[in-house]
Amino acid sequence: EKCELDRQQLFVIDGEIINEMKQTNQLKRILTKKIKEKDLLVYYQPLFSTKSKRITGAEALVRMYDEKLGIILPYKFIPLAESTGEILDLGLVVFEKVCQYIQEHDLKEMGINFITVNVSPLQFEDTQLVHKFRQIARDYGVDLSMIEFEITESAMLNTALFDYQMKEFKKYNAHLVLDDFGMGSSNMQRLITYPFSTAKLDMSLVWSYFKGENHIMKHVIEIFKEQNLAIVAEGVEDQSMVKDLSEFGCEYLQGFYFSKPIPAEDFDRLVNQYNHN
Ligand code: C2E
Ligand code: MG
Ligand code: MG
Ligand code: MG
Repeated sequence: EKCELDRQQLFVIDGEIINEMKQTNQLKRILTKKIKEKDLLVYYQPLFSTKSKRITGAEALVRMYDEKLGIILPYKFIPLAESTGEILDLGLVVFEKVCQYIQEHDLKEMGINFITVNVSPLQFEDTQLVHKFRQIARDYGVDLSMIEFEITESAMLNTALFDYQMKEFKKYNAHLVLDDFGMGSSNMQRLITYPFSTAKLDMSLVWSYFKGENHIMKHVIEIFKEQNLAIVAEGVEDQSMVKDLSEFGCEYLQGFYFSKPIPAEDFDRLVNQYNHN
C-alpha cells in the first residue's frame, strides 16, 4: 500500500515537472523568435537627480510581448537567455534599440545626460563586445559616452576577462556603473579599484535600511562619496525615502515613486512634463 502512495506522489511531481518543462520550452521558442526578429521591447525608467530636481537619466529595461502571454518580464527570460547563450544577441538588440532611441531624440534638450543599459556577466565572455557596441553606436551616430553600462559584481569573478573588458570600455570613455551593490557578496575593494563612475545601491539594501534592519547603508554612501562615486538608490517608493536619501547624499534616485519602467513614448511625455516647468 505504501508503495502505491509513493507512486502516486511521484506521478504528481512528474506532472508538475512536465508542465514546467512545457512552459519553459514555449518561452524558449518565443525568446528565440523574438531575438531573431529583433522584436524586443525596451522600457525606460527615469533617474531623478536630487540636485537639479529633474529627470536626468533613464535605465533601459527589456520586456517581451507575446499575444497570448502579454508583457513578459525579464526575470522570466533573462536567466533562460543566459542558459542558452542567446543573452549575447539579446544584449545587442537592446543596445541597438537604445541607440535608435538616442538618435531619434535630442537628449540634451530633454535634460537627459545618459541612458543606462544592463550588461550580463555572460556578455563579458565575448572579447568583441565593446567593438560590437561601438559598431552599432556608430551606425546610429551615437557616441558611447552617452550610454552608461551597468555591470554586476558576478562579472568580476573572471578577473582577467573583467580587466580586459574594463580597459576596452574605458578606451572609448564609456561610463561604468556597478549595479546591485549590497546584494550578495559586495566587495568594496574591487569596486574602488575599478574605474566605475557610479555605484547603484540595490533595492534590498535600501529597503532593509528603511525597515530598520541595517545601518550600514549610510556608511556605504559615505565611503562612495569619499571615492567620488555618484550614487544611485534603487527601489525608491515614497516621499520619506526621497527626503532621507537626498539628505544622505544620494545624487540619483530610481523607483516607483517617480515612475515604473514605461514605453519610450510615455517616458518622453513624462520627461516633458517633469523637466519643462
Ligand atoms: P536591475 O538592473 O537591478 O533593474 C531594476 C529592477 O528593479 C527593474 O526590474 C525595475 O522595474 C525594478 N524597480 C525599480 N524601481 C523599483 C521600485 O521602486 N520598486 C520595485 N518593487 N521595483 C523597482 P525589471 O525591469 O523587472 O528588471 C529586472 C532585472 O532584469 C534587472 O534588474 C536586470 O538585472 C535584468 N534586466 C532587465 N533588462 C535587461 C537587459 O536588457 N539586459 C540584461 N542583461 N539584463 C536585464
Ligand atoms: Mg540595472
Ligand atoms: Mg539594479
Ligand atoms: Mg536590482
